[in-house]
Amino acid sequence: MCAKDLKDSAAESAERFYSELVLRHSSDAVIISDPAHMALWVNPGFTAQSGYSETELIGQNAGLALRGPETDPDTLRQISLACQQRREIRCDIRLYTKSGAPYWVDQKVTPVHDATGRHTHFISTMRDITERKLLEEQNEEMRHAEALRQSERQLLALTSEWLYSAKSFEELLMVIQRAMHTLIPEADGALYVYNDSRTMLDLATSWGSQPEFPRHILPDDCWALRRGRAYAYGQKPIQFVCDHVARSGTPYFCLPIIAHGETIGLMHIVFDGFEDTGVMRHMRDQVLGNRWEISLICGEQISLAVANVRLRQELHEKSLRDPLTGLWNRRWFMEQAQREITFALRDGRALSLIAVDVDHFKAFNDRFGHDAGDLVLGEVGRAMARLASESLHPCRIGGEEFILLGVDHDMSQALAKAEELRAAIGKVELAVLGQTLPPIAISAGLAVLGRDGNDLQQLMHAADRALYHAKATGRNRVVSHPPPASAPGAG
Ligand code: GH3
Ligand code: MG
Ligand code: MG
Repeated sequence: MCAKDLKDSAAESAERFYSELVLRHSSDAVIISDPAHMALWVNPGFTAQSGYSETELIGQNAGLALRGPETDPDTLRQISLACQQRREIRCDIRLYTKSGAPYWVDQKVTPVHDATGRHTHFISTMRDITERKLLEEQNEEMRHAEALRQSERQLLALTSEWLYSAKSFEELLMVIQRAMHTLIPEADGALYVYNDSRTMLDLATSWGSQPEFPRHILPDDCWALRRGRAYAYGQKPIQFVCDHVARSGTPYFCLPIIAHGETIGLMHIVFDGFEDTGVMRHMRDQVLGNRWEISLICGEQISLAVANVRLRQELHEKSLRDPLTGLWNRRWFMEQAQREITFALRDGRALSLIAVDVDHFKAFNDRFGHDAGDLVLGEVGRAMARLASESLHPCRIGGEEFILLGVDHDMSQALAKAEELRAAIGKVELAVLGQTLPPIAISAGLAVLGRDGNDLQQLMHAADRALYHAKATGRNRVVSHPPPASAPGAG
């Protein structure tokens, strides 16, 4: 052996020694296997990482031993293909320790060939990247949660926009139904509204897959209404089911709807299929927690929207009412009469107008003052309001001029109502500051659709002519047939 050979063999054995040192002390796992994937050698790093001892793995297919339920089959296929093609491959893969705990590795599988080019071994190195993967997963979850919150915020903003656009209560119910079903798709829901006497709440609308809600509930049957604040059932250690709820195992929310400080209704949201079976309890509670927050926001927005619609309706109603008597005003009368005439002509139904005017009102005003005059107008208004029904609409169309719009009222019905009104006003007793005022009287003139005309102008004109005729022939009377158009009237 020459000096060069000696030097080479010393270098070779040093290299082998160092390589072995690296393999023995590396925290990365290393497996050397034969071309059929049977493990020939594993380093201590592998034993530490996987929990398998050297003897348990030698002669076995390590890849098979390490895979588990959530090892990605696609990645396994890619590794298998690369091995078949004797290609090096590097990938992230989830493996399982001997005790079944999952861990992530960055794995590199390298085919090794001898001097003749024959494939002799595979070397697998596996670096534990579990921590990095956990962080990535957490980041992904956070991104996902943020995206969800973002879309929830957008939906809530959209809902609020629609809620504020609603002009009527019916429109509002439509928006609530659609919005709640979209925001909380896994729940059924219902909106209840107090009846006029506030003894009960009536079902106004419901939504969901199989919404089955009682049509009415009593205020005392609901913990939220009794306690005056939103109530979530299903998650607390001490809780009682409301009497209006049929199933006791199902989580639900009850949210009072409050407009202008007054509770006007209740939103009820039921999570059917969310019974506490113990399975996935953590996830169930998380979903319910999130839905609770959404429901509270929606409850508040719906409350504001209801208040808004009420205000709109009040203002609209005000614009159509006469402030002194509370009767419909001229604007309402003109619009409504026009509409009713169209329907009556279309359906061949009766319609009548009764024009009413207070007798000698100017003299009354002059003698007893404007306030006493107003008192008279108020009494006439009250007497007319008492006659009001679904088909008879009393209106004040001018100073001391009133009209009754009779839908479906023919001549004889109109005449009877006019006489009833005249008699009622004749009985009114008025007093101002202890002083009894003289009795008051009205005159009335009738017009009916068809006989006296086919549009509003003709009918009003005919009713006025009949009224003037009543004035001209002595007042305190009802005239049902207007005199011919040429006859002189009186005012
Ligand atoms: P006739 O029997 O022919 O109907 O006579 P009249 O005096 O009732 O009729 P006229 O149309 O001459 O007078 C109507 C009066 O009504 C004149 C006006 O001062 C009064 N008036 C109009 N609006 C009001 C109101 O809101 N309050 C009061 N107090 N008076 C009013
Ligand atoms: Mg008059
Ligand atoms: Mg008058």
